[in-house]
Amino acid sequence: MTCPTCKALLHEPQSRFLPFCSERCQWLDLSRWLAEDYRVADPQESPPWPEEEKDG
Ligand SMILES: [Zn+2]
Repeated sequence: MTCPTCKALLHEPQSRFLPFCSERCQWLDLSRWLAEDYRVADPQESPPWPEEEKDG
């Protein structure tokens, strides 16, 4: 399976953060979901979430 946030392949599906690979991705997904209610439409603004980087 893959992490819904960063699409990383989960090698250890026993993670307590399933279906996410880490607490960070779990939090990011939740934040995105919450942001749906508060986001401000501004096509010239960069997305609040920088692209994922391979840091792990
Ligand atoms: Zn992830």
